[in-house]
Amino acid sequence: MSVKADVVIIGGGVMGCAIAYHLAKQGLKPVVIEKSDIGGEASGSNGGGVRQSARNLKEMPLAMESIRLYGHLHEELDMDVEYVRKGNLRLCTSEEELETMRKSVENQKMVGLTLEMLDRRQVLDINPHVGDKVIGASFCATDGHVNPFLVTFGFFKRAKNLGARFHTHEEVKEIRLQKGRVAAVITDKNKFETDLVVNAAGVAGRLIANMVGLDLPMRPIFSEALITEAYPPLFQQMVGHAKGLFYGRQTSHGSFFWGGFVGTEQFIYRQGKPLFHYIGPTISKMVIDFFPVLKNLNVIRTWSGLIAQMSDGIPVLGLTEEVPGFVFTTGFSGHGFGLAPIIGRLLSELIMDCQTSLPISDFCYGRFFKNTENECSCKGNAACTTITAVCPNKREWLKSI
Ligand SMILES: Cc1cc2nc3c(=O)[nH]c(=O)nc-3n(C[C@H](O)[C@H](O)[C@H](O)COP(=O)(O)OP(=O)(O)OC[C@H]3O[C@@H](n4cnc5c(N)ncnc54)[C@H](O)[C@@H]3O)c2cc1C
Repeated sequence: MSVKADVVIIGGGVMGCAIAYHLAKQGLKPVVIEKSDIGGEASGSNGGGVRQSARNLKEMPLAMESIRLYGHLHEELDMDVEYVRKGNLRLCTSEEELETMRKSVENQKMVGLTLEMLDRRQVLDINPHVGDKVIGASFCATDGHVNPFLVTFGFFKRAKNLGARFHTHEEVKEIRLQKGRVAAVITDKNKFETDLVVNAAGVAGRLIANMVGLDLPMRPIFSEALITEAYPPLFQQMVGHAKGLFYGRQTSHGSFFWGGFVGTEQFIYRQGKPLFHYIGPTISKMVIDFFPVLKNLNVIRTWSGLIAQMSDGIPVLGLTEEVPGFVFTTGFSGHGFGLAPIIGRLLSELIMDCQTSLPISDFCYGRFFKNTENECSCKGNAACTTITAVCPNKREWLKSI
């Protein structure tokens, strides 16, 4: 069947749903195509950590605004998303880790984030359950966590009620161009005629870019996780190891989520699936080392998800002059969930108003193709900078590049 669409969003993860919600709120009728279920990939397998700390500094303005938006998300989505803003402790076990953390904290402070270094006694004041090996930590009081299923579902539900159309169990197979511009999206069931397509396909973002002749320095990385049986309330912070070996939180109904890297990721990537029997024991051992109080807790499920890892660890956002009408929203490199509310807002602003309220030029596609003066290949044009100047009329920019 051939259908006309204002905009086609590829991917019904949290990013696709958040963008669809903001566009639908402004009267557009976006079509979201999802090859499995809503939130069926990374958005449904992640830890729900919502942090500003320990990010690439370029992401910090977005992360700080996202935290502010998370504070109101229950009103915006009209549902409780189990958002808890009780801080993030990144635990250190050696002088070397402390030193690295101190430098990182200073850099983060310089871009406006409020966080501090704690000694062991101060860590115990915040979380009395850490084991003997913890000698200090960084602490960002405004970080926190959320239930990722509820957030994704909340954006989906609101978008749908406002008129967005969702096609689940339908896979995008091809993007057709006409004179170099986006003209249609072909799925295994339908043809959508559109001049605007958003690549929110997560780890498949590279494959989708390939469909229009572009490539991305992105690779998939396995990340493993587990959930335990419920336990009486113990602590509310997000916690993790300084080097990110493991991280976790207690959920609102008492289970603990723990995620981490078990050391077999490179090996298992070659065989295409994780070694499930390694996940429980490996992550549990790290957790018990840091939180001995949990040593008798039963693990009830383990799983693995894929991270869309960019070569420089930050996402690709916005337009590209190579293919007018093709919008990137991918490559969140393992910490995208915390950014979802601001990404939904900024990408909808870009599509509706041709400008964004926070700059996104650091995330442009052109950064991978620097010229001899070390400038992005797209510097100075509508593809990666604020595009107000070239687009006085809504969506006219499409014709101008
Ligand atoms: C185990 C794990 C733990 C994590 N923990 C955290 C955390 O604590 N905090 C944090 O901020 N981030 C975390 N992340 C990262 C976070 O989950 C992602 O950055 C975020 O969910 C990305 O959302 P997305 O919508 O871009 O991608 P996804 O949720 O992967 O959505 C993309 C969707 O596109 C669909 N799709 C792909 N190809 C096609 C096609 N051809 N046609 C139609 N549909 C298609 C997929 O089926 C998928 O549903 C974690 C990730 C993992 C795997």
